Amino acid sequence: MATPERIWIFSSEHTGLVGRDGPPTNAGNGFAMAYRAGARFLRMEASSHEEWGGSTGIHSTMFGSGSNFAIWYPCSIVDSKGKIIPWIGKNGIPIESVSERVIPKDGQGVFSLVLGGAEGKSPAMPQLIPDLDERIKNGEYSLPLYADLPAMSKHERRAIFGLMVGQEGHTWPVYRNLTRAGFDPDKDLLQSYEMADAPFGWRRLRYGGLLHDWNLQSSIEGLFAAGQQLFDGIGIAQASSTGRWAGECAALYTETIGVAEPDRTQIDHEKQRIYAPVRRDEGINWKELAAGVAKVMQDYCGDKKTDELMKIGLVYLSEINEAEAQTLCAKNPHELMRAIEVLDIISCSELIIHACMARKSENPWLSFKRLDCKANNPYDGEKWISVKKTKDNRIETDDVPLDYAGDIFENYHFWKKKLAADAAGQMEKEEYRRALPNRNEKSTTTKYQTAGFIIIKNLLLCCRRSNLIEGMIWMSDK
Ligand SMILES: Cc1cc2nc3c(=O)[nH]c(=O)nc-3n(C[C@H](O)[C@H](O)[C@H](O)COP(=O)(O)OP(=O)(O)OC[C@H]3O[C@@H](n4cnc5c(N)ncnc54)[C@H](O)[C@@H]3O)c2cc1C
Repeated sequence: MATPERIWIFSSEHTGLVGRDGPPTNAGNGFAMAYRAGARFLRMEASSHEEWGGSTGIHSTMFGSGSNFAIWYPCSIVDSKGKIIPWIGKNGIPIESVSERVIPKDGQGVFSLVLGGAEGKSPAMPQLIPDLDERIKNGEYSLPLYADLPAMSKHERRAIFGLMVGQEGHTWPVYRNLTRAGFDPDKDLLQSYEMADAPFGWRRLRYGGLLHDWNLQSSIEGLFAAGQQLFDGIGIAQASSTGRWAGECAALYTETIGVAEPDRTQIDHEKQRIYAPVRRDEGINWKELAAGVAKVMQDYCGDKKTDELMKIGLVYLSEINEAEAQTLCAKNPHELMRAIEVLDIISCSELIIHACMARKSENPWLSFKRLDCKANNPYDGEKWISVKKTKDNRIETDDVPLDYAGDIFENYHFWKKKLAADAAGQMEKEEYRRALPNRNEKSTTTKYQTAGFIIIKNLLLCCRRSNLIEGMIWMSDK
């Protein structure tokens, strides 16, 4: 589930370890299912040029080389002669100690990361000196650079390598591969590789997802979502808290409905669709299809967009769907899984192009640009645009006010009170259930037949238990 990561980028030869904040295993199945079921999506037009080399791992395995960013934060970096690269603090203030990289000085407020392009370069957080390239040119520092864990205090070293690299769900292979290859963070420096720009047209979706109400119910009644399946959803804290909340609301919802009769025709149709690739002997394989779809997205809805280009993109997707995709072959269960993923990638790509076509003016905060945006186009940044597919396969787009969800403080206080009352056993389930719809007054939720519900839980750490134990052993050894 989660954000589709292979829309614009596909390379079977460059398998990568990680994307920035989404693994390449996420093909967007949840998005595609919800789209086909008629759910409304927001901010699907937002994407940015992939500055990290993408889900393929080309250019660098971002967290597998020496770094001072994200899970390697606030690691010390030295040049090839062992000279320390200085840090600057918030708003360019020089800082001396490691603790100043993590604890704001009095009166500085909090540090904040700005997601998107140039992530980590926000003046609101400490970072390496911004004129490092100039200083290398002048001979003050020399390449390559190294992450210098041994120079750090023992507890910092343990926090960075044992706790963060070793235990973050997506980076445990970095810990495993490095330690198994003999890397010892107490003694060894780890070389840093410069992260270069990705090729033209390689983009990543930025936080588009399902429109939802306060109960994390989508526009389809009974379809609940969490984590990156929600629009504007990003991060572990968000995934964990929304997973918990969507689960509770979905469980309550099930108490209000009866048991549905399975629709035999729908099941037979779906079985037919899913098993079709294994029943064919000749045709296209999933890799070729994925590469073709990515190329359509790079060329017709990539770094350069116009209405005409995007219309051609839709025609190509539809032709691919009707021709090549109908010859998709799979020789085994693995290939079948990948083949089904590509069919979902086609659905997600179609959704994205429609969202891009619906937004007529450029929008910096969505990283949305189009070359045919006339200077006199009215600015349409002060709204969300929702996209959905109707039952008869038409596309409907709607403007949604930025504050469609209503008053945040009012709702926050309502739920806080509710939770406190719950804890004290004062609010009965019935009363709570009655209160749920009242929280949605301003939402644009529409009612459809129940289509089941999706609940994505944050499974990061529990899936990786074995590595977690390895990381903890290393930490306790020290
Ligand atoms: C390298 C990296 C570093 C990150 N660093 C941070 C950080 O420092 N701080 C932070 O807050 N966030 C960070 N993130 C982001 C954070 O991990 C994600 O935002 C969060 O995990 C999203 O949670 P989710 O449950 O929505 O999706 P995911 O955690 O991606 O879970 C989706 C799950 O669905 C499964 N799945 C996919 N398709 C199907 C299917 N068809 N059927 C069944 N299951 C399926 C997947 O296998 C996966 O387990 C980072 C991410 C990465 C990749």
